[in-house]
Amino acid sequence: MSKDYELSTLGVRAGQVRSQFQEHAEALYLTSSFVFDNAAQAASRFAGEEGMVYTRYTNPTVAMFQDRLAALEGAESCVATASGMAAILATMLVHLKSGDHVVCSNAVFGATIQLFNNILGRFGIQTTYVSPTKTDEWQRAVKPNTRLFFLETPSNPMTEVSDIPALSAIAKKAGALLAVDNVFCTPILQRPLELGADFAIHSATKYIDGQGRVMGGAIAGTKALVGDPMTAFLRTAGPAISPFNAWVLLKGLETLELRVKAQSAAALELARWLEGHRSVARVHYPGLESHPQHALAKRQQKAAGAVLSFEAKGGRAGAWRVIDSTKLMSITANLGDVKTTIVHPASTTHGRISPEARAAAGITDGLIRIAVGLEALDDLKADLERGLS
Ligand SMILES: *Cc1c(COP(=O)(O)O)cnc(C)c1O
Repeated sequence: MSKDYELSTLGVRAGQVRSQFQEHAEALYLTSSFVFDNAAQAASRFAGEEGMVYTRYTNPTVAMFQDRLAALEGAESCVATASGMAAILATMLVHLKSGDHVVCSNAVFGATIQLFNNILGRFGIQTTYVSPTKTDEWQRAVKPNTRLFFLETPSNPMTEVSDIPALSAIAKKAGALLAVDNVFCTPILQRPLELGADFAIHSATKYIDGQGRVMGGAIAGTKALVGDPMTAFLRTAGPAISPFNAWVLLKGLETLELRVKAQSAAALELARWLEGHRSVARVHYPGLESHPQHALAKRQQKAAGAVLSFEAKGGRAGAWRVIDSTKLMSITANLGDVKTTIVHPASTTHGRISPEARAAAGITDGLIRIAVGLEALDDLKADLERGLS
């Protein structure tokens, strides 16, 4: 579909292919395999001719999801996977080999760090962790065998913002590829490929679904780096998405812009309200003027996103009181849902790292993370006020 269309149009229309029945909504093809007209067609499909063969690597519903997300990311191609972690794993296994080195932000999703350390490490891939915001640390970490930079921006739960164009320039000079986990912003608020990244990686489980129903992941980029090699990888290695999940996520893309913009606008208002609250020591949100990378976030993102964190006074006891006094918010580490979630990072998502590393990352005992949903803002404020006051 033409690049001239706006994101809202692409989200609703891009990638749709109708069957001979001319269905209005996108069809769900729940089938593991496809039949051929004759032996010759089967032979040419197996030899690589375009067409459906087997859902591990070709399915019309999955293709519609991939093409629509590619359009939103402004990418030549997109490949969907079983989960966000499968998308990250596939990117690493396709583009790295034993002896390679990765430079990674020290503020990425916990499972991503486990993947680099405990799994890729066993196959001779070494990772150095650096600050998401200190660009010079990335430069200093580069080695002759550095092949990939990996980051997530804004980060979780401190909402630190990495300078994608600056890191892209360093990666290019080093001959390394830049992968950006774009879960927090989605293509609605940030398009990493336009900013110089080689891969925009998604856990579609989060905002793309938006209603907490299914797992899925995706990688967007060029045909040479993503479309061709990753489809070949899925065909051989198998972390494919279910067509049912792809269909749910495809329909999720239709409301992505509306949801993300509304949730982000609500997060900004909530952040401002918290910043003025006497029981709150500090608020971390890129949309606030007090945020250290506020100017960078304004340049690089269309809005600040729907995740914020804040320090309740009174340390862990204070934070737990606020969390336990909520009646509306869901106490869960998940995010990206239209239902607002609240969590205490120091004792959950970041509970397994050492107290020193936690302190260095700014994750204090009083820190609370909120992923803002679509409930009325006044109801969310009242839910927090109970514990804060
Ligand atoms: C959830 C998440 C992932 C992992 O995605 P799954 O779909 O749960 O496998 C990766 N990165 C970020 C930023 C996430 O929030």
